[in-house]
Amino acid sequence: MTNVHENILGLIGNTPMVRLNRVTSNIPANVFAKLESSNPGHSTKDRIALHIIEAAEKKGLLKSGSTIIETTSGNTGFSIAMVSIIKGYKCVLSVSDKTKPEKIAYLKALGATVYVCPANVAADDPRSYYEVAKRLATEIPNSIYINQYFNELNIDAHYQTTGPEIWEQTDGKITHLFACTGTGGTLSGSSKFLKEKNPDIKIIGVDADGSVLKTFHETGKLDKSEIHSYQIEGLGKNLIPGALLFDRIDEFVRVNDETSAYRTREIALKEAIMGGYTTGAVVQALLQYAQNHSLTDKDVIVLIFPDHGSRYISKVYSDDWMAQQGFSNNCVHNYEEVFKT
Ligand code: PMP
Repeated sequence: MTNVHENILGLIGNTPMVRLNRVTSNIPANVFAKLESSNPGHSTKDRIALHIIEAAEKKGLLKSGSTIIETTSGNTGFSIAMVSIIKGYKCVLSVSDKTKPEKIAYLKALGATVYVCPANVAADDPRSYYEVAKRLATEIPNSIYINQYFNELNIDAHYQTTGPEIWEQTDGKITHLFACTGTGGTLSGSSKFLKEKNPDIKIIGVDADGSVLKTFHETGKLDKSEIHSYQIEGLGKNLIPGALLFDRIDEFVRVNDETSAYRTREIALKEAIMGGYTTGAVVQALLQYAQNHSLTDKDVIVLIFPDHGSRYISKVYSDDWMAQQGFSNNCVHNYEEVFKT
């Protein structure tokens, strides 16, 4: 039998890359998207869930019926829930109240116990999803806390898999890698691998308007005055994640809710790729970057598309939601107009 796996976990990783032909056609470079939605849990987080849980198994920290705990905006939760089912663990998650009800229903359908916590409180507030997860990890016996923001294995998962895949898929020709940074694991681990192969590869992080990562990279200071709420899930932070290797990143580009939303919809309409909200963010970041960096047809640019658009149907793919945000009504069908201004 060929291409048959023992269980769903055998499908994690080795995600495809596809050339972008239209949304970045104003840029002379070759631009490829790495489609992490092709993972069985539909996001890049499958890689870290499997890697971290298997590392804990190797250390003897888990036995049948153990509990895996994590704080997550959604994607990591789907992945941990999936791995937990196959391996026989319980999954307990704390999520922010920015998370859409259908995401929470999805997590519950995969057997997870879900705690919904307020998004707009400080990370060290006892009500925050970080603190709730920490507390549960001390209260639930026989449990491990994945702690993706401060777990080096998050970086290692991408050092072991995403980085080498990108190198092989581009035949070592990659010149630029762009990825949205939440925990920073995807970009840090991929960068670590790729810069070992070729230190000249430019590594560009994408940060959100309202997050502290870009300024921290540039000044070494956490500027709390920059923190404000925003809509893009999974991108940026109000704290400095330990899984972000700032010295492996050359530059950050900051994007906002509105242009990232338009780009997400544009990618669906022009490339027929239904990506999540950060798919639009990473394309938007490349277009902003191209305004003040000269790119040529020798450049091979890889963008990580972290997850699937099916998770955002009532958000960025909803015209009503776009209108509620105050985003221009006709934007979805008239990009030329929107981006002229
Ligand atoms: N996009 C989405 C939709 C995500 O859920 C995440 C993870 N928070 C990211 C991008 C960023 O990935 P990382 O945590 O590896 O930086």
